[in-house]
Amino acid sequence: MASNIEITKNCLFCGKEYTAKTLVTKYCGHHCNSRHYKQLRRDEKLQSFKEAKVKPESKPHHGFNIDIQQKDFLSIDEAALLIGASRRTIQRLISSNKLQVGKIGSRSIITRKAINNLFNI
Ligand SMILES: [Zn+2]
Repeated sequence: MASNIEITKNCLFCGKEYTAKTLVTKYCGHHCNSRHYKQLRRDEKLQSFKEAKVKPESKPHHGFNIDIQQKDFLSIDEAALLIGASRRTIQRLISSNKLQVGKIGSRSIITRKAINNLFNI
């Protein structure tokens, strides 16, 4: 008759002392068992919700504009964006020798200094 055991335990949920019939019993009754189970599930959800909030929402923003501000050598597109002019304006400035460009292969490179000179900065 090994199965006929009686152990006094404290309920994991309400803390009330009860007589357990098996070693695996943790609660005084089914009511506390399901109540505790629901509570644990809710805590789990809350915990994962908190963790989700701690995580950075997105990578730091490195927009095109920010990078251009820090560059010393710019393409025609970037130079246009930097001074708020169109590509055509930049190309016109280049062809009229108002804006100096360097060439790397077929690429036109405009220095930040040349742009500054354009405005006498
Ligand atoms: Zn209980």
